[in-house]
Amino acid sequence: MTGLSVTCRGLVYIYRLEGYDVVALSGVDLDIAPGESVALLGPSGSGKSTLLSLLAGLLPPSAGRVSVGEHDLARATPAQLQQLRATDVGVVLQGASRNLLPYLTAEQNVRFAQRGVPGDRRRQLPDPREVLATVGLSGRGRNRQRPQRLSPGERQRLALAVGLAARPGLLLADEPTSQLDSHARDEVLLALDAVRRAGTTVVVVTHDPDVGRRMGRTVTIRDGRVGAEGRRGEDYAVVGRDGTVHLPQDALRLLPPGSLVGVEPQADGTVLLVPARSPVMSQMLEDMQ
Ligand code: ADP
Ligand code: MG
Repeated sequence: MTGLSVTCRGLVYIYRLEGYDVVALSGVDLDIAPGESVALLGPSGSGKSTLLSLLAGLLPPSAGRVSVGEHDLARATPAQLQQLRATDVGVVLQGASRNLLPYLTAEQNVRFAQRGVPGDRRRQLPDPREVLATVGLSGRGRNRQRPQRLSPGERQRLALAVGLAARPGLLLADEPTSQLDSHARDEVLLALDAVRRAGTTVVVVTHDPDVGRRMGRTVTIRDGRVGAEGRRGEDYAVVGRDGTVHLPQDALRLLPPGSLVGVEPQADGTVLLVPARSPVMSQMLEDMQ
């Protein structure tokens, strides 16, 4: 199937704990085109995994909208969401083993992931061995191995194969290269390249700048919203709904938190940020003269 689009509007997610709430996402606006591949970046705890779970329909939004293709996830029933994950949305959770059944072979794991696809569509699905070949897991009898007998990198690629088993239009993967050595990581990146070339929309949560570069577009989550985007090597800050902008690190050195800045729109469409000289500093400079 061809790639699915993703749309988030003012997406909010709040974990309600006993006695207090944790606002994990505070208004995410995001559009991903069919076939686009995106790396979700951001510091630990910024809400990347939460966003992925919302895109997968594993968590219901607290407010705002999230849709995948034609499906408005907030309006879908649990059964519809399950059906969506069994067919159109492949989900690879963080930690390869969480996605695998330990007593089944690699091939059986992929076949098992195809069981939820309705009859007419199931007949068009690729043979599990073909799916394994997409992620570089063919030959040397690896299709007959159980997950425990595979190397960590192979296990991660098997988890990807399971996510791809039903030929989804959207693949979501949380930290697929973490805890892998560089060779195993490169193999996973090659597998992801093949998925992207096939036209599948791909969203990958990652700490790894190399994965980010490979994906074409990076979306950085900060304080529960999209703080920055990178496209074709250019970095952009994203203006939030309330008008806030997260300054990049090099600008923060000139304008540390607490700075007063004049914001001056120019006739040519650019905007100047002019730091105000602090009164204390002006006085000191005057005294020195
Ligand atoms: P990331 O994947 O970017 O590290 P998460 O989405 O896991 O971030 O977490 C975002 C915020 O939500 C963090 O403050 C985290 O502590 C909190 N959080 C995540 N999962 C839970 C949970 N199950 N219960 C309560 N708080 C959670
Ligand atoms: Mg996470």
